[in-house]
Parts: sequence; structure tokens; C-alpha cells
Amino acid sequence: MLFDVIIVGGGPAGLTAGLYTSRARLKSLLIEKGFPGGQVMTTEWVENYPGFDEGISGIELSQRMERQAKRFGLEIIQGVVSAFSLQEKIKKLTFEDGQVYEAKSVILATGANPKPLKISGEEKYRGRGVSYCATCDGAFFKGKRIAVIGGGDAAVEEALFLTKFAESVLIVHRREQLRAAKVIQERAFSNPKIKFTWNSVAEKIDGDDTVNKVFLKNVKTGETSSFDVEGVFIYIGYTPNTEFFKGIARLDENNYIITDDKMCTSVPGVFAAGDVRAKPLKQIATAVGDGATAGVSAEKYIEENF
Ligand code: NAP
Repeated sequence: MLFDVIIVGGGPAGLTAGLYTSRARLKSLLIEKGFPGGQVMTTEWVENYPGFDEGISGIELSQRMERQAKRFGLEIIQGVVSAFSLQEKIKKLTFEDGQVYEAKSVILATGANPKPLKISGEEKYRGRGVSYCATCDGAFFKGKRIAVIGGGDAAVEEALFLTKFAESVLIVHRREQLRAAKVIQERAFSNPKIKFTWNSVAEKIDGDDTVNKVFLKNVKTGETSSFDVEGVFIYIGYTPNTEFFKGIARLDENNYIITDDKMCTSVPGVFAAGDVRAKPLKQIATAVGDGATAGVSAEKYIEENF
């Protein structure tokens, strides 16, 4: 089956790319392994995406983006691509079940996944107190004590969200200054349920059937401590989903795909958009910008090469 454009990944970048290629009347297919929306689907509330002055839930924003792209003909299928053959003029994407899809151009919008801390107990208690998604798991922690590891936007925003359920939330940050946006910091500092432990890293998570303790170390003094918590939410950044593109497209030192400002990768006819791309600001607003640019670049590439 030959498409003009195949988009891999259905977050805001992929859905926007699909909106633009479909409106350009290109035969467009979007492949998503889960539900369209990507990380936005697991974001409780989005309030920095322009146009929604009161904010919007991550789920609703995702669904709206999906509906909008489909309205112009974007085909969306669920599946996992297990092999990419991108160097030839006609690109081939093979699914896990062996089915092969072909395209004149490909837009990679595979996003990024939460990074694990790689400490003792993290794997053992995953889903039994250890979580990477407050939206998904927060409600299980009603009246409980929670530690949130990290000091970026995600950690502090999700800590704030968790105060809806938790008795207390302890933010554990390895420095004494948060990386999160100032407006988010201000809210956290004024929230009576949130406490901070500075210059500290989590070293171990322990419990019985479920988590009941996190062990911390002060990186300045070397002092160790432990806190009784029922939940540990880990937000220390993301790893790009680029495993399949190693040796195919040029990646940076952190394995993000390098593009130019037209979203062209090092492979002709292959474009990248959103969090999978090496860039300074990873936001929904920048992802949709990438997606629009990638869609238009794919259209131009097809016009010039086919
Ligand atoms: P991030 O901005 O990379 O922050 C990661 C945090 O985890 C940093 O505070 C970092 O500490 C800490 N950290 C990293 N490795 C660690 C380790 N091994 N042990 C302990 N702490 C560690 O990641 P993010 O917060 O997930 O955000 C990812 C991107 O999405 C960012 O561009 C962010 O702006 C964006 N985002 C935006 C919003 C929003 O605007 N509403 C919401 C969520 C995410 P240091 O500060 O010391 O490096």
C-alpha cells in the first residue's frame, strides 16, 4: 500500500503534520502505538497552549486534534512499526505482524518516554507505588504521602496536581533551584501540601507489597535520610524514541534527531517533528509548529521528487 506520507507517532506533532498533509490532499497515514495524543493524553490540565484561555484537559485537547486531522482525511491506525527502511526513494515500514506500508515521505514524530531513575526498588515497585504518570495513577493516592523526584516543569506541575489527592507531597530535587517555569514554582511554594528537599537524590525505594519508604542522600553533605511515603512519582526528563533510527538518521549526543529548520533529517524525504527532535524547547506549542513545518516540507519534497 503506497501512501504519499506516513507519519509515525500521534502526539501533537504527528497529528498536526497529518492535518497539514491531509489538507494538502496527500494520501496520509498516521501510525500510533497507543491512543492519539501522546504525552498530552497523560497531562491532566494544559494551560499554556494558546487559544484555551481557561486551560483544557490533555485528553480533550488530544481528541480535538485527532478529530480535526481526521476531518480532512487523515487515516489513523494503531500499530507498532518494527523495521524502517528509509534510505530508498520509496520508504518501507514493516509492522510487528509483518505487514509492510510504503510511502514517498515519512514524518517521524515518535516523541519521548519518561526516564527511569535506575535505583533499587524502582522496577520492583513500578505500578505498586512507583509511577511516571500522575494523571493515570494520582487518584490511587488519596490521603497518602507522596515523593516526587525532579525539579522541572513536569515534576512541579504534577506535584501540584497530586495535592488534589495526597495528604502531602515532598519534591526531591538534586539542586537548590527548580528548573520549572517561575509561575509553576510560585504555585508550588505557596501550596501548603508541598514540601521540598533540596540538593537531594533518591537512592532506594522500599516497601512490602507496595511502597512505604524512599531513601534520600544529600549530594552536598552526603547525609542520608528516609521518608515514609506510599507513592514515588518520577519526573526526571525523557528519552527520545529513536532506537530504530540509530545509524539511519543523524542523532545528537542524547539521541534526539537532528533536523534543519524545515524539519528535514539527514535522510532525503524523511522529516522529524516534536519531542523526538533536537531542539531547545519541548512544548505542545512547539510540537504543533514542528508538525506544520514537517507537513509542508513533505508536500514540497513530493512535488519536487515525484
Ligand atoms: P526536564 O525539564 O529535563 O527536567 C528534569 C528534572 O529532573 C530537572 O530538574 C533535573 O535536574 C532532574 N533530573 C534529571 N536527571 C535526574 C536524576 N538522575 N536524578 C535526579 N534528578 C534528575 O524534564 P521535564 O520536567 O520532564 O520536562 C521535559 C520538557 O517538557 C521540558 O522542555 C519542559 O519544559 C516540557 N514540559 C513543559 C510543561 C509546561 O510547560 N506546562 C509541562 C511538562 C513538561 P536539574 O534541574 O538539576 O537538571
